[in-house]
Amino acid sequence: MIVPEKIARLMELAEAQAEPKLREIDQRVDRNQWKVIEAFQKYKVSDYHFAGSTGYGYNDRGREVLDLVYAQVFGAEAGLVRPHFASGTHTIGTALFGVLRPGDLLLYITGKPYDTLHKVIGKPGDGLGSLQDWGVRYGELALAEDGMPDWDALKDKLLSDPPKVVGIQRSRGYDWRPSYSVGQIDEMVRFVKALSPQTIVFVDNCYGEFTEEKEPTEVGVDLMAGSLIKNPGGGLAPTGGYIVGRRELVELAAYRHTAPGIGGEVGAMLGTTRNIFQGLFLAPHLVGQALKGSVFAAALFEQLGFETSPRWNDERTDLIQAIRFTGAEHLIAFVQGIQKAAAVDSHVVPEPWDMPGYEHPVIMAAGTFIQGGSLELSADAPIRSPYIAYMQGGLTYAHVKWGVIKALSNMIDKELL
Ligand SMILES: *Cc1c(COP(=O)(O)O)cnc(C)c1O
Repeated sequence: MIVPEKIARLMELAEAQAEPKLREIDQRVDRNQWKVIEAFQKYKVSDYHFAGSTGYGYNDRGREVLDLVYAQVFGAEAGLVRPHFASGTHTIGTALFGVLRPGDLLLYITGKPYDTLHKVIGKPGDGLGSLQDWGVRYGELALAEDGMPDWDALKDKLLSDPPKVVGIQRSRGYDWRPSYSVGQIDEMVRFVKALSPQTIVFVDNCYGEFTEEKEPTEVGVDLMAGSLIKNPGGGLAPTGGYIVGRRELVELAAYRHTAPGIGGEVGAMLGTTRNIFQGLFLAPHLVGQALKGSVFAAALFEQLGFETSPRWNDERTDLIQAIRFTGAEHLIAFVQGIQKAAAVDSHVVPEPWDMPGYEHPVIMAAGTFIQGGSLELSADAPIRSPYIAYMQGGLTYAHVKWGVIKALSNMIDKELL
């Protein structure tokens, strides 16, 4: 385990530089940890809640309390937290299908949504049962120069053809744009509500949870969804997703998730309850570890002259750290290096492939305990210009540092640095 002298020196410098930011993250972790514990205490979470259920899962008190605890943590009226959500996309799709009806308009105001949602939105007559296939109308507003929504275009739309749902994606996803802070989302909500109070504001909160002290549902967002194999699952939830928001909207999502009239009152937890609870308990800390790793990586790659987004000292509102490289070889060497640092599957070498739901070949490093779990150290890069690697996660700060060491060593071995 020899760290080349040059890399060791770079690391020391990067960490010294990042020190004030790392301390700030610790303070944020404290607040979020206390908030989560208070929510557990409010609903008297107890050992028997972890027992789980089978069959229909009627009267599963652990599941009911889990919904209540999530709602409390996110400052929402209601929650639906289930292992039956197969992915973030499934969860987001369920929320949208739950509240949209044929003829309604869904308007994304933060540019193109995340790749996997393109097929959920679909096209009229695509025959896939996508939103547009069902007759939901869709529009999206390109971002303004400053990366914020195009306020003028939004105003026109809100007044001329008020959307049933306005969609906001908090995280940058695979885009070289900043992610939206909860403060900025607050601004968007107020703008929408002032002109069209009936419009439902929906937030795709993937990767955002616990990166700030507030969540979007605490600033007036009506409905929000995220994945349990990202931030709020705390590395322990084996699968699943959550929806939180206004009670009647969460109920509509629950009807879509199971069946109308049944909603959230059934659904056997199949032994996942304890891990979902414990993961939520750990999530603020683990998100902090991952954030520290991102700050460290940004500081280090900036020293090497690469462009990063966010920069090491920028405010952060999600886990994603983008690093812009100069070509596909850098990208591939970086991602393969991250894989080499994993505790699981470090012996496999990731290659670009046509992943379902994505429109370009993607290379992914994911040496994870939970398959595809991206609160764990992972890196993705669509192989397309501009050559940007997106890294995220890390259950321990030390693991992220090890990942960066391996990525750098791999690049040096390939004579790319
Ligand atoms: C991960 C992600 C999704 C989709 O989640 P999957 O689990 O990959 O289906 C949607 N939106 C954003 C912003 C994401 O980061």
